[in-house]
Amino acid sequence: ARHTSTDLPLPRVGAPVERAPRAVQVVLNWGRKYSLWVFNFGLACCAIEFISASMARHDFIRLGVIPFAPGPRQSDLMVVSGTVTDKMAPAIRRLYEQMPEPKYVISFGACSNSGGPYWDSYSVTKGVDQLIPVDVYVPGCPPRPEALLAGIVKLQEQIATETPGRARARHADRYADRPVSAGEVTRG
Ligand code: SF4
Repeated sequence: ARHTSTDLPLPRVGAPVERAPRAVQVVLNWGRKYSLWVFNFGLACCAIEFISASMARHDFIRLGVIPFAPGPRQSDLMVVSGTVTDKMAPAIRRLYEQMPEPKYVISFGACSNSGGPYWDSYSVTKGVDQLIPVDVYVPGCPPRPEALLAGIVKLQEQIATETPGRARARHADRYADRPVSAGEVTRG
């Protein structure tokens, strides 16, 4: 009998990745966590800190994050930075749906986490997690660029240990009960 140099059974071409051997999933997770194309959903002042984090001084590209993807269809990670309003909610939901699986979301700053200083405004959504599932929350008003780097590292730790199929199911579960239009957003 002929033997390959490794005992790892290779996945059948076209087989669901969640059925791949654990070692293959580790390699896939490793590649995924260091090639995160990011879609910046910048809505207010926090978006400036995001831009700062992508520039030479903080340079989040060294973590394997590729900024300014052409659009959501080319993105793995959405960073929501700024004040989310109920008027904007359907657009956020639609752009999230356009991202391919597996996909991740970082809520960057107090406004996108909970409404922030505008928590009692009639028009502000009290947290983007009312609309889409959030993987990592970064606190602050605004958070410093280093806080975004810490949030990215936290997300990469999650990606390193996930089973792709399980990650998809987790997102689907958390996503199912979200409102679909601005009018359905829960008031704070
Ligand atoms: Fe601006 Fe603060 Fe809201 Fe960020 S959290 S968008 S800095 S008000």
